[in-house]
Amino acid sequence: MNPTPARTRFAPSPTGFIHLGNIRSALYPWAFARHHGGQFVLRIEDTDTERSTQAAVDVILQSMQWMGLDYDEGPIYQMQRMPRYRDVLRQLVDAGHAYPCYMSTAELDALRERQMAAGLKPRYDGTWRPEPGKTLPPVPEGVQPVLRFRTPAHGSVSWQDRVKGQVSFDNAELDDLVIARPDGTPTYNFCVVVDDIDMRISHVIRGDDHVNNTPRQIHIFRALGSEPPVYAHLPTVLNEQGEKLSKRNGAKSVLQYRDEGYLPDAMVNYLARLGWSHGDAEVFSREQFVQWFDLDHLGRSAAQFDGEKLKWINAQYLRALPLPQLAQQLRPFLERLGLREHGVDLQAAAGLLRERAGTLLEIAELCEMFYGEAQPQEQDLQPLLTPTVREALGELVGRLQALAQWDAASISAALKQLLGEHKLKMPQLAMPLRHMVTGRAHTPSVDAVLALFPRATVLERIRAHLRA
Ligand code: GLU
Repeated sequence: MNPTPARTRFAPSPTGFIHLGNIRSALYPWAFARHHGGQFVLRIEDTDTERSTQAAVDVILQSMQWMGLDYDEGPIYQMQRMPRYRDVLRQLVDAGHAYPCYMSTAELDALRERQMAAGLKPRYDGTWRPEPGKTLPPVPEGVQPVLRFRTPAHGSVSWQDRVKGQVSFDNAELDDLVIARPDGTPTYNFCVVVDDIDMRISHVIRGDDHVNNTPRQIHIFRALGSEPPVYAHLPTVLNEQGEKLSKRNGAKSVLQYRDEGYLPDAMVNYLARLGWSHGDAEVFSREQFVQWFDLDHLGRSAAQFDGEKLKWINAQYLRALPLPQLAQQLRPFLERLGLREHGVDLQAAAGLLRERAGTLLEIAELCEMFYGEAQPQEQDLQPLLTPTVREALGELVGRLQALAQWDAASISAALKQLLGEHKLKMPQLAMPLRHMVTGRAHTPSVDAVLALFPRATVLERIRAHLRA
């Protein structure tokens, strides 16, 4: 047996923000590695020292940890690999695949202007590219050269993308890429290739904003004597307005979903479906996803984020959580809202409220009916207290007190009996009861709600408002 070698990586640049589209580029390679029993590597592409920050690295690490995307190697920081990149640069120069170019920025600008004026696409013109029989210009004094990669002048470069199919670029369209700056620091496309080789990456699964880099990277692979990995370029994720997801147009960070009370398993499930499918399966576990994940069912067109659907999936997961776990997960949210768990059993409350909430935060907000001040708006309550209703509620106090069992069924029976006797409809009693006991107009079924409170609390609150 020759198992598919599967070494994948997530290679974010730590520049401040990580949204759902970004983390999806971690989820798919993670799932691919796990599916094949391979390895998943985390590489931090921090060579843009102006924009990279430790805080952004922390956000990446926290987001991955929260989503449960564990990695087998890393985090590997590109900044710590500089000596290795310099070695490989030297190798490329020695083998004739790279050459120093002394063209100054001013000369390059002038060249670009001439080309544009002539209606041409701006590109490096090969002034410093050595060719047999060609005499290079004299090396100017005191100028530190860049290193350029010697791209084949003719032919084309292509690959079989697992999402896009066959992709080809004419080499004539790719000019000689700068792979090292005047100070000797390597540039982005070069580092990616050295890393993908050294880390023995078999499958590169990344956003399709990198498609234009891929032909350049393939040339560098070959110059270094390696075959490129398999590529799968994922189509963009669009926001609900159909624009590319980005911080600028309001995309939320992954950690914000955590703070709003989404469950990581629900996020994984939702993102799994945002660009990949398994028949029409919508709700499936992380294990199921890993078992099913493949590159053959990646979507070819841009996926559109749908917040309602995400919330719907989250609600499914909230409803499936064992109550002790649900209560435990809710506690930090209650604390944030300043609600103190008392009197009412949190597991029971959460079990009742999760039916009408999409996130942990929404359940916690609803918990206010059990742990809040319960101060009804008198202007809402008083008009409901007609003489008949007052009388019925007065009797209710005695009946509730006398109940042999304090549970929803017994409370419901007591209420129904009173309705018949006083010729009232359920809302005529239920509404004022909600206001009196919970301070709110909207709650789940009133018998179920009352049953969760200590009986004494219910009686005391009804009495207090009848007196008022
Ligand atoms: N660092 C790149 C980015 O954040 C990803 C590079 C890659 O996946 O090859 O977009």
